[in-house]
Amino acid sequence: MPLIRSWVASANLADHPFPLNNLPCGVFSVGDEDPRCGVAIGDFVLDATALEAEGLLVLDGGPLLDVPFWNAVMEAGPAVWEALRQQLLVLLQESSTRRYLVEDHLVARSAVMLHMPFLVSEYTDFYAGRHHATNVGTMFRGAENALPPNWLHIPIGYNGRASSVVVSGTDIRRPWGQIKGPNDAVPRFAPSARFDIELELGAVVGLASEGPVTVAEADGMIFGYVLLNDWSARDIQAWEYQPLGPFQSKATATTISPWIVTRAALEPFRTATPRREVPLLPHLREPGPMLYNIALEVALAPEGGPETVISRTNYTEMYYSAAQQLAHHTTCGCAMNTGDLLGSGTISGPEKGNRGSLLELSWGGKEPFDVTGGTRSFIEDNDTLTLRGQAQGDGYRIGFGDCRGKVIPALADPYKRT
Ligand code: CA
Repeated sequence: MPLIRSWVASANLADHPFPLNNLPCGVFSVGDEDPRCGVAIGDFVLDATALEAEGLLVLDGGPLLDVPFWNAVMEAGPAVWEALRQQLLVLLQESSTRRYLVEDHLVARSAVMLHMPFLVSEYTDFYAGRHHATNVGTMFRGAENALPPNWLHIPIGYNGRASSVVVSGTDIRRPWGQIKGPNDAVPRFAPSARFDIELELGAVVGLASEGPVTVAEADGMIFGYVLLNDWSARDIQAWEYQPLGPFQSKATATTISPWIVTRAALEPFRTATPRREVPLLPHLREPGPMLYNIALEVALAPEGGPETVISRTNYTEMYYSAAQQLAHHTTCGCAMNTGDLLGSGTISGPEKGNRGSLLELSWGGKEPFDVTGGTRSFIEDNDTLTLRGQAQGDGYRIGFGDCRGKVIPALADPYKRT
């Protein structure tokens, strides 16, 4: 599919993240005004709440955009998602006859503040990147036991905390936790010294379900995708994770990018999951390509310093797709809700420069890596970490917008009341 040209000139630039093909969904505010739903187009945000209020967007069951989150649209289902996209395409395309009605509802993106694009119902995080699981397993358990015996048969996951999810730009406070290093006789309570990121893609469930769903049905339930940083305190994780998995090490914060890139926008970029030496059981097999070709990178910038891109990888490195993870999530009858967020698991590639966490990049701290002006093993105070992603089309790009967070110093005493 080529670029769809718009009368918004900046949206037609070949390297712009938000062409008319994209139309990602966010929530924005200007000054002291209330937040509202918007769609990114070129250098602007289109005020979708105002368009619906004026009858320029007509959605079944509406109004659906009179609330500052996209959950009502998501809950309305795929026919409404498609109607919304088609109406926006008509209003914004180069030959639109209603440009004069729409123009007043464009706000410069540089002038807006972005908020959480949806209410997160629940948050589940998976562990479905083979390179990441192999690297971490090798460090934690040795090369012979790197992949647990279940790993090639089911997408491993744990139930995270919806309350941990924050939008890009939110500062992240270095956490305290219980830590017991290999040379410590007893555990101690201290700020995490091995604070880390995990580069992931988050799938946003639009349509709810009750009983088990097939992989194809699961794919149809997904409204869109965001970049996701699963902040991880490795020293807390190493002590707490057995036998029930991560808990406090992952609950400080989870940052997402501010725009939900819809499944429709990513459709031209579908690719297959990798070949499997062990066939999956039938209920987890995919009926077609369910991953997407999305180039990803991680950048680290110290306070006041230039950023260094420390990793480049691609979503095609996943072993399980979001549709497979969602289908697996429902096998026991677990109900899924509109607004459920599924983290893909860390997306590492085969080479050192493709690793999606500092734990892997520094090999557990044993091999510090270079950044402009120094080296890193884990995140230092006042470092800003930014995840970026884009799918490269024929003369256009589908961008996600930055997923950024600055790590601020731990409190001197987390129990001191002010
Ligand atoms: Ca994770």
